[in-house]
Amino acid sequence: MNKTTYLTILSLAFAIHSFAQNQGSSNASFTPKKAVTPDPKMNVYIDALMKKMTLDEKLGQLNLPSSGDFTTGTASNSGIAQSIQAGKVGGLFNIKSVAKILEAQKLAVEKSRLKIPMIFGMDVIHGYQTVFPIPLGLSCSWDMQAVERSAQIAAAEASADGICWTFSPMVDISRDPRWGRVSEGSGEDPFLGSRIAEAMVKGYQGSDYSKSNRIMACVKHYALYGAVEAGREYNTVDMSRVRMFNEYMPPYKAAVDAGAGSIMAAFNEVDGIPSTGNKFLLSDVLRKQWGFNGFVVTDYTGMNEMTAHGMGDLQQVSALALKAGVDMDMVGEGFLSTLKKSLAEGKVTQQDIDRACRSILEAKYKLGLFADPYRFCNVKRAQTEIYTEANRKAAREIAAKSFVLLKNQNNILPLKKSGTIALIGPLADAKENMSGTWSVAADPTNYKSLVTALKDAAGSKARIIYAKGANLDADSAFETRATVFGKSLHRDPRPANEILQEALKTAEKADVIVAAVGESAEMSGESSSRSNIQIPQIQQDLLKALLKTGKPVVLVLFTGRPLDLTWESKNVPVILNVWFGGSEAGDAISDVLFGEVNPSGKLTATFPQNVGQVPLYYNHKNTGRPLGEGQWFQKFRSNYLDVSNDPLYPFGFGLSYTSFTYEKPVLDKSRIRKTDQLHISVKVTNNGNYDGEEVVQLYIQDLVGSITRPVKELKGFRKIFLKKGESRNVQFIITNNDLKFYNSELKFDSEPGEFKVYTGTNSHDVQSANFSLLP
Ligand code: BGC
Repeated sequence: MNKTTYLTILSLAFAIHSFAQNQGSSNASFTPKKAVTPDPKMNVYIDALMKKMTLDEKLGQLNLPSSGDFTTGTASNSGIAQSIQAGKVGGLFNIKSVAKILEAQKLAVEKSRLKIPMIFGMDVIHGYQTVFPIPLGLSCSWDMQAVERSAQIAAAEASADGICWTFSPMVDISRDPRWGRVSEGSGEDPFLGSRIAEAMVKGYQGSDYSKSNRIMACVKHYALYGAVEAGREYNTVDMSRVRMFNEYMPPYKAAVDAGAGSIMAAFNEVDGIPSTGNKFLLSDVLRKQWGFNGFVVTDYTGMNEMTAHGMGDLQQVSALALKAGVDMDMVGEGFLSTLKKSLAEGKVTQQDIDRACRSILEAKYKLGLFADPYRFCNVKRAQTEIYTEANRKAAREIAAKSFVLLKNQNNILPLKKSGTIALIGPLADAKENMSGTWSVAADPTNYKSLVTALKDAAGSKARIIYAKGANLDADSAFETRATVFGKSLHRDPRPANEILQEALKTAEKADVIVAAVGESAEMSGESSSRSNIQIPQIQQDLLKALLKTGKPVVLVLFTGRPLDLTWESKNVPVILNVWFGGSEAGDAISDVLFGEVNPSGKLTATFPQNVGQVPLYYNHKNTGRPLGEGQWFQKFRSNYLDVSNDPLYPFGFGLSYTSFTYEKPVLDKSRIRKTDQLHISVKVTNNGNYDGEEVVQLYIQDLVGSITRPVKELKGFRKIFLKKGESRNVQFIITNNDLKFYNSELKFDSEPGEFKVYTGTNSHDVQSANFSLLP
């Protein structure tokens, strides 16, 4: 595994943008910026092009409209087409199909004065038409090859359809399951989040994103978007710099270090300044300290929204954003409509505009668009390289890796392919929902619902019978809000009791009941915050009624966020969390239910006992009055009167059909110098009845620091495969880099002293050993 590469201190700092070098000072003790090799040919090309450009043409490059009225055939008459021909558009997004993209590109390349090609973006978040699990689910695979492969396939399909730029990966750390966008990130941990950020960027871009089957990544949402207050979408963020740099910034930096070509400014404020106008974030940290040499795009109308934030009128906020370091304006046209005036009034400089324009042109150059503007417009590829058998097979395998088995009482799973299985629940026959939130290129026509997939898998061996059992929610208005973008659950208009009784009759005929319940796809994602994180009451009532039949009940849980499953975990014998597994989820769920695949996913976000514990995360601080180990309530200790401090399911938790035992970690030294490597070995044995994969986890605790340190921090993991009966000594290496953190002066360094190493199957069930770092 690639260990903490984002912490590597690189030698001489150099940045392409002279702007970056001239911006105000910032804390000299941050990690120095990365060396960037300038491309002389690119510079010469862009210098020459920019000499020919008028101010209007430069501003046009900064403009990123959504494709809106652009439809094939009528292209040249539409408003957007006129703008393209006038050189007022740098790129387009939300335009689907290579035919339309080709037509739009032709307008730019054949009809505009300087023939500058456009870039075409899309939210290719977890796959294109072959859809992979939602990112939170994908992260639970802890399988970096699978993560990279999913992004690589997404890139291959998107580029085959004309797209060369994706608004992904979203690397926002979040500890708040109320926030709907936890579904789009990789959970709560900065170390794992960083590894996934690197894998995603590598998967999209490869080593050269001018290749016609690669696309440029856009890291988002910079910065701290996952820390919105109360989990309410677009809300305020406020946090200390120490927390910011130790816990939230690492994945953005990892993605930048991995070479991400672009980054998206977040909607939220940081330190009282919206990210979109935040020079500290966009220039001082991103460009000067991290050496980012790509371009910064706003989020959708993020610049205009600074007016509502209270930062001034459109002219003011546009100048603020440009000077802070924004290069491209998504949708809002603030740059297009105000920068000329601001330049005349001395509010921005020609250098500011040139910097932004240059960075967009550089991206186009790096994408190879000046060499061949149609490199992503091969109509044949669109017919043969999208939603292929091979891609679907990969998606099916990867989806199965993302599922987390939370409970399996009496080894009810895997199911035998015999007898009668009743599949009941509003998510059972819901093929439009399988792909999950943010699957804009999905085409559910050929996706399978769970009921179809189970029937296919069972063949003639077992009988699958189905009933809906309940709607998503008793409140139809809620269901309307939660099933947007064509992801209907086809609400059953009959009275709730009639739907329930029908299901109970179906259940009566079965040997085992599979309940497909939980959230709809659009109950998570953007603008889908929840203040109640339980399964909707009507579905819980359905579960209660099914349990009363006395038959074994397997809960197949669809969700885009950690839920409060306290009741379910006590009362339902089996819980398999399948998130939203993508286009092939139906087959993948069947594979796991019938034991063709042994589940191996582990949670990357803590599941709380109730919403009142939120935010709840494994890598918390100890406080001055911690609760004693295994205690619930102690007066004058940090705890609650009505619930213990424990999570329902901790970070890193997930069961298998087999079982693994761990021995204590063995360290090759008890004291290390800063130049040493500490070798840690842990023996893991598969002593159950199935072959299976296990995620072996390694955590570190810095026992004394100049600032308070977390009780545990993930610093390593290995996903291993063990045949039944097999043992393996799993090796980890810890170096000084793994022990570093940002102190109160934001100096990134380790501090000599005592440390603990923990190894185990999840963040809670661990065994430890001690070592010290010598001065
Ligand atoms: C979202 C971004 C997304 C953009 C473009 C915004 O509303 O916050 O994540 O990339 O829209 O679709």
